[in-house]
Amino acid sequence: MPWVNENMCVGCGVCVDDCPVEAITLDDSKAVINEEECIRCGRCHDVCPQEAVRHDSERIPQEVEVNIEKTKSLLKHFETPEEQQAFLERMVRYFKKQQKVTSLTMDKIMTMKADLSAAEK
Ligand code: SF4
Ligand code: SF4
Repeated sequence: MPWVNENMCVGCGVCVDDCPVEAITLDDSKAVINEEECIRCGRCHDVCPQEAVRHDSERIPQEVEVNIEKTKSLLKHFETPEEQQAFLERMVRYFKKQQKVTSLTMDKIMTMKADLSAAEK
């Protein structure tokens, strides 16, 4: 999922005009991508003259930090060390489940990719 680095965007509108599904708008002279509308074609990344449309992987550290901050804020609701340990264990289980969902989804997409390659031959 592409995203716009606001500090690099100059609001030229090139990406807005080029998006095939009109998923980008300008808000206060900064491009904003509607994640629900975006079809992940990558054109905005290719056409931006400022390289302001960035790859998703660059946001990994930021997303990890959001998860950690959320965990810390929820931890405050538990007083005893036992309750806190149990809570942290539940958070680990939650992220393990997310990891499994991601892994199984990737397996299925790779199967779709292989099927597509086989059909092309
Ligand atoms: S093309 Fe790049 S600089 Fe121009 S509006 Fe889009 S993101 Fe901003
Ligand atoms: S990736 Fe494609 S569909 Fe998504 S915002 Fe960029 S140009 Fe539009």
